[in-house]
Amino acid sequence: MNDFLPSELQALRATAQAVVEEAILPEADRIDQECLWPATGLQALARAGLCGLTVPSRLGGHGQGLLGLAALTEVLGQACASTAMCYGMHCVATAVIAAKATPFHDDKYLRPIAAGRHLTTLALSEGGSGAYFFLPQASLLRQGERFIVEGTKQFVTNGSHADSYVVSTAACEEPVGGDFSCLVVDAGTRGLHWGEPWRGFGMRGNASRALRLEQVSVPLQHLLGREGDQAWYVFEVVTPFFLTAMAGTYLGVARAALECAVQYLKSRRYAHSGQAASEVEVLQYRVGQLWASVEKSRLLLHHAALLGDTGSPDALPAILACKADAATTAVTVANEAMTLCGGSGYRDHGLLSRLLRDARAGHVMAPTTDMLTVWTGRTVLGLPLV
Ligand SMILES: Cc1cc2nc3c(=O)[nH]c(=O)nc-3n(C[C@H](O)[C@H](O)[C@H](O)COP(=O)(O)OP(=O)(O)OC[C@H]3O[C@@H](n4cnc5c(N)ncnc54)[C@H](O)[C@@H]3O)c2cc1C
Repeated sequence: MNDFLPSELQALRATAQAVVEEAILPEADRIDQECLWPATGLQALARAGLCGLTVPSRLGGHGQGLLGLAALTEVLGQACASTAMCYGMHCVATAVIAAKATPFHDDKYLRPIAAGRHLTTLALSEGGSGAYFFLPQASLLRQGERFIVEGTKQFVTNGSHADSYVVSTAACEEPVGGDFSCLVVDAGTRGLHWGEPWRGFGMRGNASRALRLEQVSVPLQHLLGREGDQAWYVFEVVTPFFLTAMAGTYLGVARAALECAVQYLKSRRYAHSGQAASEVEVLQYRVGQLWASVEKSRLLLHHAALLGDTGSPDALPAILACKADAATTAVTVANEAMTLCGGSGYRDHGLLSRLLRDARAGHVMAPTTDMLTVWTGRTVLGLPLV
């Protein structure tokens, strides 16, 4: 792995790796088989001080941006994609809270998050608008000193396990300024109703559940940002942090699949010839191709993250492309690894099966691969995103 990351980030990555070995890897298969939310891994990440990754340093966090998120989600994703996604969504929601936090948000959310005592997550997408996650229909109505939120979110990672939910809404009768407003809703608030537990094709531990908000009453200070600047949140904060967390996760999945194939080819030896599978030239060629695609995806992701962190005007197409690219790489590498590992990789219903199923979520999670690729093209052509 490249080591041109800043030394502070290398240290955080080493801490994450230690947590992976102690608490995440041992649970990864069971999380997948039993659809378990990864409580042990997330608690270990909190104890190691990593849950405040995107909290500003002045509040006790690590003050990391996109590059830090990319590096850590890759390490976690290689071990357990469900854990990486749960952690990633927490870090993204934290960044959304931190972007324009008031002293109230600092004390109620960001300091406890930095101390590992508070888990948050994103509740954006809805059945009605689907992949168009930036067009919520959940409504926000101002009533005196409170907001009333009403609507249904169709997939909420960390659903029913988080301490708070960053919920997107659109203003209804009495407009509050924009057509996309995020606010933080605390777990336990009256009117939150959870749908069926998640039993997906992959990402089986991410506890992504539907959430119905029925006349949920929230104090005004839970609104994030000022009235009228909410579209800024979608494209300046939610999208770059979310895409980076997802790209890191799928890159980790791709690396794990490549590692499976390499280990298998090195250990497989034929009785009739004494030759190892790793000595077969066409297999060497295929491993070479897969390695190059994983490295290219990492370089694009880190390049995009660096451009984003430094506020470069060229960041947008790279950030849009990196998640679509990582999802494609993960699906391709996991699929090819299944072929390279022969009948035993297919038969055992083990790690490769999990990796292939987890990788497939990459294309359907909004912004989806197709949408991101179109948006990348529009950006390069100088057209507005949507
Ligand atoms: C494991 C998992 C975890 C998730 N966790 C969360 C979460 O924590 N928070 C959250 O808010 N959401 C979450 N989601 C929701 C996810 O973002 C949705 O799957 C997404 O919004 C897609 O919605 P849909 O299924 O209704 O797709 P649809 O809108 O029905 O789209 C179907 C297909 O049509 C394509 N399509 C539609 N319009 C276009 C277009 N204009 N251009 C190109 N292609 C197009 C889409 O790309 C997609 O492939 C999660 C999803 C999964 C699978």
